[in-house]
Amino acid sequence: MTEGKKKSEAGSTDHSHPYSLIPTRHSLHLVIFAGMKSFDVPIIYRSPLITSLKKKRKEMDKMKKDFTPTLLDFGPLQVFLARHFGFCYGVENAIEIAFRTIEENPGKRIFLLSEMIHNPQVNADLEAHGVLFLQDTYGKQLISFDELTADDIVLIPAFGTTLDIQKRLTEIGIQTEKYNTTCPFVEKVWNRSEAIAKNDYSIIIHGKPKHEETRATFSHAAVNAPTVIVKDIREARELAKYIKGEKNPADFYVEFEGQFSPGFDITRHLQRIGVVNQTTMLASDTQAIADYLKQVMMETPHPDNTEEPFADTRDTLCYATNDNQTAVSAMLQTAADLAIVVGGYNSSNTSHLVELCEEKLQTFFISSEEKIFSKEEILHYNFHTKEERSARGFLPRKEPVRILLTSGASCPDALVEGVIKKLVSFFPTSKSWQQLQAEFR
Ligand code: SF4
Repeated sequence: MTEGKKKSEAGSTDHSHPYSLIPTRHSLHLVIFAGMKSFDVPIIYRSPLITSLKKKRKEMDKMKKDFTPTLLDFGPLQVFLARHFGFCYGVENAIEIAFRTIEENPGKRIFLLSEMIHNPQVNADLEAHGVLFLQDTYGKQLISFDELTADDIVLIPAFGTTLDIQKRLTEIGIQTEKYNTTCPFVEKVWNRSEAIAKNDYSIIIHGKPKHEETRATFSHAAVNAPTVIVKDIREARELAKYIKGEKNPADFYVEFEGQFSPGFDITRHLQRIGVVNQTTMLASDTQAIADYLKQVMMETPHPDNTEEPFADTRDTLCYATNDNQTAVSAMLQTAADLAIVVGGYNSSNTSHLVELCEEKLQTFFISSEEKIFSKEEILHYNFHTKEERSARGFLPRKEPVRILLTSGASCPDALVEGVIKKLVSFFPTSKSWQQLQAEFR
């Protein structure tokens, strides 16, 4: 991918946001506050049309109050693009560091701890540049750490990593600080759990137990306080039964195997709790779990604890998760025939966008335009059953066809442009791409 070395002139993605609680390890937070940070990301990931369109929307709505979708009106096809979608701050930061590292270190062995971000194209591009993956996305070792030497470079992905792995790399003599792409919004979760722990609360992490970010957060939280992961409201309800004394304490260790910190004592460690989240969870689930656990804690007597039993803090979802989910909810107010969500199939934030769309209308989750075989057939991913399925006749026989479109925070805009172009090609009488582009200049 020789184009991979070409950089876009300016990162045009809208990374400004109205949130202010961003304690980080370096000066990135200042840049975020300014809302002006742009990154050098390979130009092949950009889309000229989407870049101009995002820029225009940003200029017209500096405070990000307008979440209505943008209509791309091709005549017989109308595409409604979500107000916010695509590469987030942390992803662009990680991609910039990764490609810069490749450029600056010819001849050096460069490893990635695991997938850089959950997008197959970006990971494949990095592999094509000679980057080797040490682990798969679930932590299975692909290359032994024993093969590493102090001369090697190891990139830590945007999700962050566990303290054990960090220690292992340091012992080998590998400098991780310079090549650490951990997103500042993930670090914010670690800082929040540390603050909760300092006030003697145990930590409940709402997240996917096998997800890289949740494994990293669990590791950072568990050194400070007893910690348990709950995947969803069902698991939160089961945990509550132990809090209320309705379940046999011994069963906890089987039911939550692999999800609690060493030495966790179910009879002592749930007298005072605080909740943090994986940054990409569904906002409504996160709120429901925090509200539910708070209520349980307030209603349950805790004989050994006379102080506040629940640490009242805001959720730790990141700005991109909030923006993208709010934009999808607003987009769903538009009457449409179907929705298409573009992104990596193992991407947590993308699957939640799919979940929101599915509640309202027929939704197709695809990784790129290549999954749209023809006007008749699309191959889409069912993230509930974790399999791809073919759907025939996915476009209604009417005009105009109205499609809602969005993508996850790790999906290049170029892929979204590819999907739009593929759809437009099925409508020969459509307005041309150039005409549309002129409208958004
Ligand atoms: S989704 Fe949020 S936490 Fe994850 S990399 Fe992007 S900005 Fe950071």
